Formats: sequence, C-alpha cells, structure tokens
Amino acid sequence: MELYVPEPISKLIEGFMRLPGIGPKTAQRLAFYVLTMEEDDVLDLAKGLVRAKRDLHSCSICENITDQDPCYICSDKKRDRTIICVVQDTKDLMAMERTHEFNGLYHVLHGAISPIEGIGPDELKIPDLLRRLGDDEVQELILATNPNIEGEATAMYLSKLVKPFGLKVTRIAHGLPVGGDLEYADEVTLTKALEGRREL
Ligand SMILES: [Zn+2]
Repeated sequence: MELYVPEPISKLIEGFMRLPGIGPKTAQRLAFYVLTMEEDDVLDLAKGLVRAKRDLHSCSICENITDQDPCYICSDKKRDRTIICVVQDTKDLMAMERTHEFNGLYHVLHGAISPIEGIGPDELKIPDLLRRLGDDEVQELILATNPNIEGEATAMYLSKLVKPFGLKVTRIAHGLPVGGDLEYADEVTLTKALEGRREL
C-alpha cells in the first residue's frame, strides 16, 4: 500500500531535494520543520528566496552577484584598481573578502574550464575580463581559481591569453590543498596562499 503524503508536503520535500547536498531524508526533515515554524517566519523565508532571485544580478564590471550596479567592491573608491583577482564564483570572492588581506578588485568567471562537463572558455566571463585589462590602470592579475584540475586548466589558459597585455600574472598556490575548493579554505590558509602567489 502506497503511503499517503498530502500534496503540499510532498511538493515541499521535492523542492528541498532540488537543492545541492540535500537527500530525501534531509528534505523530509526540513519540510516537516517548516510546518512547526511560525507563519510569519515561513513568509519571511519565502519572501527572502524570491527577493534574492529577483533583485540580484551580475555586476556589469566584475560579474559579482550584486543588488546594485556596479557592485559595492567596484564602486569602492578606496580599493586598489591596479590589481584584479580572478575567481571562479561569488562564494570564492566572499572567501577572499573574509581574509581582509586583499584590497584590489575582482573578476568572477562563473565557472572553470572543464572538458568533461563540456565547459569551454566561451562559457566563462572571459571577454569582459579582457576588456578590463585593456584599461591602463591594471598592472597585476591574480589567478585565484581553485587548486584542482579545472581551476589549474583555467589559470593556465588565462595566463597564456593575457600574455599580450604584458601584465604581472600570478597564481595563488602555497598552502592550499590540491584538489580543494577555495570556498572551503580557512582565512589563514587563504591569506597565506595570497601572500605566497607566484608569477606565471
Ligand atoms: Zn563589481
């Protein structure tokens, strides 16, 4: 006999299961937890989800996720405009920001080159980066893509691509676990990786 689950609950479970890292059991636990919440809190959560999706977009300069354009980093006059740190996604940018060690600008690629997943350079925000490098202000490019196969391939590709600009191109490496993800690195490790960047 099939177990009867009211449709609103099964829909909610299905919804949670679409999120990364959430399996059927966790989805069920979350769904039933929502039922125990105050109605106002549930509304806040629902509104928060919709607002985040509706009001956020990419910065027209650096591709960071933002609710204002240019983003707060690109519009901050105190930041060093001679140096651009290239990261794979906004979570990596946030990890970098948490170190409080980097005061330059960023460029978010929104991915990394991965032949297995069919992601080539054309899928990444590379043309926007090249446009920015045409600006005389930029002197150094830090390639802070993840220390795994995709991240390394992307860094290698970019270092060759930007050669004609004659910039100082560096790669963070020191201290980061190989195969790891920038987003999960602690602040100390990431700071060391930034300090120990080597020229390519
Ligand atoms: Zn920006």
